[in-house]
Parts: sequence; C-alpha cells; structure tokens
Amino acid sequence: MKKILVTGGAGFLGSHLCDRLVAQGEHVLVVDNYFTGSKRNIEHLLDCKNFEVIRQDICIPLYVEVDEIYNLACPASPVHYQRDPVQTTKTSIIGAYNMLGLAKRTGAKILQASTSEVYGDPVVHPQTEQYWGNVNPVGIRSCYDEGKRAAETLFFDYHRMHGVRIKVMRIFNTYGPRMAEADGRVVSNFIVQALRHQDITIYGDGLQTRSFCYVDDLLNGMMALMASDDAVTGPVNIGNPEEFTIGGLAEQVIFITGSTSTVIHENLPRDDPRQRRPDISLAKSLLGWEPKIRLDEGLKKTIDYFRGVV
Ligand code: NAD
Ligand code: UDP
Ligand code: UDP
Repeated sequence: MKKILVTGGAGFLGSHLCDRLVAQGEHVLVVDNYFTGSKRNIEHLLDCKNFEVIRQDICIPLYVEVDEIYNLACPASPVHYQRDPVQTTKTSIIGAYNMLGLAKRTGAKILQASTSEVYGDPVVHPQTEQYWGNVNPVGIRSCYDEGKRAAETLFFDYHRMHGVRIKVMRIFNTYGPRMAEADGRVVSNFIVQALRHQDITIYGDGLQTRSFCYVDDLLNGMMALMASDDAVTGPVNIGNPEEFTIGGLAEQVIFITGSTSTVIHENLPRDDPRQRRPDISLAKSLLGWEPKIRLDEGLKKTIDYFRGVV
C-alpha cells in the first residue's frame, strides 16, 4: 500500500482519481481548500479507512510522509481562475514550490497537472510538446497560463538540481460527471443550459475549436504516466485529438438532450485561444495510451449525471 497525496482531491479530476486510488487499496490523503471543489465530491470516501482529508491551501507548507504526490490543486475554469488571479498565480507557483519541497524531503514521485494553456493561442497546430507556445504574459488568462508555465520550470529545476522524480502532464480540455454545475467551462455550461431549456451561450462566432477528453480516459493516462519509468519526466500531452468547433459542440448537446434551447452569441473573452488539439504521439509511444471514448458517448454519460443534479 502506497501513501499518496492528492492536492485538489475534492475537485472534478481529483475526486475521480481518489476513487481509483482508494479502490486499489492505496492510502490516500487529500489536501484541498475547497476553492472550487466540494465535500460532496468525496463524501462517499470519508468512511474508508484508507482515505483522509486535510483542509488547507497548498501555498502553506505541508509536512506529511508520502510516496507519491499528484499536484492537482488549482482552479481550472477561466471564470474561477480569473476571480482571484493573484491567488491563482500563488497556487500555481508557491503551491508547486511547496509540493516540490515535500517531494524532495520525502523522496516522493510527483506529478504536475499542467495544461494545454501553456501553448496559449497556438500558431502550431496540432500542438506537440516541442512547441513553446504563444502566451500573453499580461492578459486576463496569464495568471493561469504563466503560473502553470512557471510551475513547469520549477518542476524541471527541482529535477535537475535535486533529482526529484517528476511527471509533467499537459492536460487538454477534460469533461465528465462531477464538474460543478456553476463551473463555467463550456461542456458543463452547455449541458446545464440545455437541460434547463435555457439559451446556449456561445462566446464569439463558435468557430473556435477545442478537443474534449472524457475523464476516464484522462485518468488512465494520468495513472500510466505516474507508473512510468523514472526516466519519463514529460512534458506529455494527454487529451483527445478529435477536434470540434464550439458551435458543433452546442449542436451535439442540443441533439443528445433533445432540448428546445436555441443558441445565442455573446462576446468572446479576451485572449480566448482560436484552436486547440493535442498531438498525442508521445503519450502513445511512451505510455501505450490513447483515449477510447468518443465525444458523443462521453457527453451521454455526462448528461445522465447532470440530469440528476439540475
Ligand atoms: P477543479 O476546479 O474541479 O479542481 C481543483 C481543485 O483544487 C478544487 O477542489 C479546489 O478547491 C482545489 N484548490 C484550488 N486552489 C487550491 C489551493 N490553493 N490549495 C488547495 N486546494 C486548492 O478543476 P479540475 O478540472 O479538477 O482540474 C484539476 C487540475 O487539472 C488543475 O490543476 C487544472 O489546472 C488541471 N487541468 C484541468 C483541465 C480540465 O480540462 N479539467 C485541463 C487542464 C489542466
Ligand atoms: N516544504 C513543505 N514540506 C516539506 C518540505 C518542504 O511544504 O516536507 C516547503 C518548504 O517550506 C519550502 C518549499 O517546500 O517553502 C521548498 O522546499 P525546499 O526544501 O526546496 O526549500 P529551499 O531549499 O528553497 O529553502
Ligand atoms: N465557451 C462558450 N460558452 C460558454 C463557455 C465557454 O462559448 O458558456 C467557449 C470559450 O470561449 C472557449 C471554449 O468555449 O472558446 C472553451 O472554454 P472553456 O472555458 O471550457 O475552456 P478553455 O477556454 O480554457 O479551453
């Protein structure tokens, strides 16, 4: 039985990860400040003897003994990470610094939930790990994009200077059950609006693209990366390479829900990336990983979940 720390374990991805690790019999410790996560996401685990939670901000040093760390703590939705941008930068950088200090002291292996946002508004398409990105350092998304970029820098410097075993995972848009109803990201927004027969809010012309990965596929990739040989540090893209326009996503959600909603257009937020799609050749060759769940299948599962919530 390994002792595993999951920061951000009460959030969307973190809570699914905890389910898997607890089911495997690992001893799981969650650290979360409930900024965007909720106790409801993990309440079914609270009675398990191999599951514990500490309410704490990762910007505060943490002294525990662990074998592995999944560093997921950070708001992921633009609405939430822009609510307190200074806190987002602190969480990304000071939080990563503390977790790396913890990994250095304990000898734990540490995985960083980085993001496709490190590519910014990409001019290389699809995005490979070699691409350095096109990021505005002073815009409204910068707290997140630059925070995650600086965190990657810290990870690689702790690896080079102190031999910390690191795994840097660049996660592309992921969706599924347990996204918060008011999360603000596009898949949950559209599903909630469709189920309530409200207007579907497309920002801009809806021709911008994203590639959506279902949570189960994403976790397979995350756990395979953690289990990989120490020589595998990443960065590794994990996401679904099928690319859709946001307008096309709205149509699929309306079709599957059978909603009477119609589409309206609102202003496109500043610096909103025009296109995004991962090149996952590296994940395929290093981890033997690729996603299996098509968007329509994943949407159906997610819509079933939201029917019970909204
Ligand atoms: P989420 O908002 O549902 O979960 C984040 C969790 O971190 C929440 O439980 C929140 O309360 C907690 N948290 C935030 N700041 C904290 C702090 N300072 N100290 C302790 N806990 C804190 O988001 P998610 O979708 O589950 O994302 C998890 C991680 O994956 C994030 O690091 C995010 O940047 C990364 N990621 C997610 C996606 C995606 O599409 N879901 C894409 C790229 C990267
Ligand atoms: N840290 C932590 N838990 C630990 C070890 C370190 O939270 O078990 C924090 C420590 O307080 C510091 C950061 O991690 O803020 C970086 O630790 P490191 O030992 O690398 O610090 P430095 O060498 O920069 O003083
Ligand atoms: N978006 C939209 N309507 C919404 C929420 C988001 O049209 O209600 C758009 C947003 O402008 C972006 C895309 O959907 O172009 C993905 O947005 P999300 O916030 O999910 O993630 P990110 O921009 O970080 O990829």
